[in-house]
Amino acid sequence: MKPHVAVYDTKPYDRVSLLSAPQADAIDWSFHSFRLEEATATSATGAIAACIFVNDQADRESITQLAECGVKHIALRCAGYNNVDVEAAAELGVQITRVPSYSPHAVAEHTLALLLTLNRRIHRAFNRVRELNFSLNGLVGFDLHGKTAGVVGTGRTGALVAQILRGFGMHVLAYDPMPNPEWAARHDIHYTELKDVFGEADVLSLHVPLLPETKHIVNEESLAWMKRGAILLNVSRGALVETTALIQALKSGALGGVALDVYEEEEGIFFEDLSNELLQDDELARLLTFPNVLITSHQAFLTREALAEIARVTTENVVNLSQGQRPLPGTELAPS
Ligand code: NAD
Repeated sequence: MKPHVAVYDTKPYDRVSLLSAPQADAIDWSFHSFRLEEATATSATGAIAACIFVNDQADRESITQLAECGVKHIALRCAGYNNVDVEAAAELGVQITRVPSYSPHAVAEHTLALLLTLNRRIHRAFNRVRELNFSLNGLVGFDLHGKTAGVVGTGRTGALVAQILRGFGMHVLAYDPMPNPEWAARHDIHYTELKDVFGEADVLSLHVPLLPETKHIVNEESLAWMKRGAILLNVSRGALVETTALIQALKSGALGGVALDVYEEEEGIFFEDLSNELLQDDELARLLTFPNVLITSHQAFLTREALAEIARVTTENVVNLSQGQRPLPGTELAPS
């Protein structure tokens, strides 16, 4: 019998990519558009695996429900796993897998798309020209060449972003508690203290996982270290940035611009069409009023290549685990 998988928070592109994966026909799929949470977990009855994404809640309560329904495996279609109680899963005998690296290029390239758009005011120019407003007032950017970029986290995506920024002729400073000196020397990238990276960057980009020690790494104190007029980029996780402090830094003019692909309270907002609703999140509403704030809805991963890789790893792991085999190397999460 084919293993039955309940897929949560499914969008049309997830369905297409999962059903196109090499082993898709070996699986009996149930696609749900709603998210996994305690109240929805019983929908997994009969499934051996639950397949979830960044805003599903795999907390102790949800995992307990899933385990009671017979679920043995939670397959994350993403790299970050801050929404999963890994210890609870281990206690309840539920294996967790993720896709640690599907396309760091997709994420890095989106980071650069945000930076170039924000700095050269392409988002404003696009709208203006469509209104036949060909004025350039307010569209002055700055040359990236010769400026300093700060990269916080030099793992898969941070390293690529740093290399691309070097290609623009920027000086690149980096901070990572697990530095990679050989890589840095090869690309003329310099590790330094976090405070110096914040303090010297004209463009500061975050590429760290959301952990207790990285939560609100951008806060009132660290924003005060930054140069006046600097640009902040966050494509990693929303809660790395304290939104209230960010809004203050924007209102005072201290920050030159902010581009976000993630937002602290994105759950229930990002990925959804709310164009006929009244936005209830006042901080997001305020952020959207700044001309120098650019927000995309957690789309940095969204390339054909990344979706295909996510689908390949997810389906292989579901099939392997359902046959009592090991998951693909490096994809299994265990309690720390
Ligand atoms: P990675 O694991 O390859 O790299 C993370 C790096 O952060 C590591 O080098 C680690 O040593 C470093 N780090 C850990 N704690 C740190 C700290 N306190 N200060 C500075 N650096 C620290 O991860 P990655 O693939 O580069 O992805 C980074 C994050 O981006 C993921 O955790 C995920 O949350 C997010 N992400 C977002 C999207 C999106 O679509 N927006 C897609 C993929 C990943």
